[in-house]
Amino acid sequence: MENCAVVGINWGDEGKGRMVDLLTEQYDIVIRYQGGGNAGHTVVNEKGSFALHLLPSGIFRDGKVNILGNGVALDPENLMAEIEQVRSQGVEVTPDNLKICDRASILLPWHREQDELEELRLKDRKYGSTKQGIAPFYSDKYQKKTVLAGEVFYPENLRQHLLDILEWKDLTLEKVYGAEPFTEEMLERWVEESLMRIKPFVTDTVGYLEKAHDEGKSILFEAQLGALRDIDFGIYPYTTSSNTLAAYAPVGSGMPYAKVDRVVGVVKAYSTCVGEGPFVCEMEGPEADRLRKEGAEYGAKTGRPRRVGPVDLVATRYGTRLQGATEIALTKLDVLSYMDMIPVCTEYLIDGRVTEEFPFPDALENAEPVITYLEGWKEDISEVRRFEDLPGAARRYVEYIEEKIECRISYVSVGPERESIIIR
Ligand code: GDP
Repeated sequence: MENCAVVGINWGDEGKGRMVDLLTEQYDIVIRYQGGGNAGHTVVNEKGSFALHLLPSGIFRDGKVNILGNGVALDPENLMAEIEQVRSQGVEVTPDNLKICDRASILLPWHREQDELEELRLKDRKYGSTKQGIAPFYSDKYQKKTVLAGEVFYPENLRQHLLDILEWKDLTLEKVYGAEPFTEEMLERWVEESLMRIKPFVTDTVGYLEKAHDEGKSILFEAQLGALRDIDFGIYPYTTSSNTLAAYAPVGSGMPYAKVDRVVGVVKAYSTCVGEGPFVCEMEGPEADRLRKEGAEYGAKTGRPRRVGPVDLVATRYGTRLQGATEIALTKLDVLSYMDMIPVCTEYLIDGRVTEEFPFPDALENAEPVITYLEGWKEDISEVRRFEDLPGAARRYVEYIEEKIECRISYVSVGPERESIIIR
């Protein structure tokens, strides 16, 4: 049995969803192991075009089991809306192909509101949160102030547990933010209308996976966001609130004993970043507008225009190392086809010193990108399926990145569709 993690090397939105959709064919079980519904994966395949937020991207493959692991931020309301959405597009989602870990913590109805209140309080110092409640959720999880999905099977305990948390949370809402408190009635309505709807999917996935592991089933671990958003090693505090790294996959999936044999790190052929925080290679003006338009760089969840820039080899090398990537999938190479010369950020200039090392977050404020230009290819490559059929300049671009980040690029994607892929 071989296990594989598909992870982001940069700031997220690298195209992990399309890679999971493709690679699921080779695996038995797909597990989303961290994060919540705050970012989106776009997947295009023979069943249609889908915007996924929390559902694992293996959901489209018949006969595969998809799991939401203990590490995710499980928002029942949004999850059920997402399930309804993909069902309406003809995809079957049943307790046979979707299982929710009974140890997953639940994102409670006040987390989204608290997220929004905090961003409002911060005003121009805000983090650029997607306001999906992820930061309050994870901080409450580690304060042991949320409930587990499996508590749906113990309704009396669940009720009391929630009331205890409500009493505590209302202190924050009222006294810190001057907001309206949540009431018992609101909570009861949420339990009936949202939380209880996930019950058919909730099960002991830890036990299920132990058995699957013993039977030699292969696992694909699916991450959200990218290495630079990792809570410990990313651009703190402009990170997400969980570990986006492959190293966390076994824990967040409920298989702490599992080995991750293969790590496919997903890198976009240029850089994008959503929200606030340092983004050294950022481009501005008409050049940025054109790249944003060519790459359709608008958030899947928020519709926000993404910040864009050239591929950042300093950040990408750092992300590749953090992820322990054994190979790289380079996505959206087709988007660069319009450029005469392609900018690449090779180093940072920090306080008069040129470096290839990604620095401590505070040093990023003074970092400037060192840019080199590579020759463009100026032709449509979206129909190319073999590496040797790419124009020479496109091959050189891929090989240049590969050499600089010291990791083999084994997939090059040239379009959003499942089949728009070059396997080297
Ligand atoms: P994820 O969160 O890492 O899965 O990434 P997103 O789904 O947020 O962003 C990737 C976007 O690029 C999606 O809209 C994909 O459909 C699209 N995409 C992925 N690979 C390619 C590619 O090779 N070429 C083009 N043009 N679009 C792609």
